[in-house]
Amino acid sequence: MITQIIIPNEIQEKIIAHCLKNYPKEACGILAGKGGQAEIIYPLINISENPELCYLIDAKEQLKVFKEIRAKSLEITAIYHSHTHTEAYPSAKDLELAFYPDSFYVIVTLADKNKPKIRAFKIIEGKIKELNIKEKETNG
Ligand SMILES: [Zn+2]
Repeated sequence: MITQIIIPNEIQEKIIAHCLKNYPKEACGILAGKGGQAEIIYPLINISENPELCYLIDAKEQLKVFKEIRAKSLEITAIYHSHTHTEAYPSAKDLELAFYPDSFYVIVTLADKNKPKIRAFKIIEGKIKELNIKEKETNG
């Protein structure tokens, strides 16, 4: 059972920078890597009609990124997005849109813009499980 995801500090900073750049709109993107370790960040465009309330990934852009990830022999590690006014916890809408049980869901909250917080979850059949985020692989 996977209980942690590894996101190097430099990628965490890039995720937060992307989310801050899009504020007050929600930002979204994909992390790619191997074995639960994120190596590359793909910031995506939020095409939602209500981007300040939710996010929607453009299907064409997503397909392009999925192809690039496959071409690099990497896996989709996580799908990330930001919450601009609420905590970093999956919303009812996020549960509805959690189509990828193999992926992690990373959520950044900018409810306090000076102190962005980042959390990771696994969402399987509407059940939420929080994971630890580590900056690098450690033993035990
Ligand atoms: Zn959300």
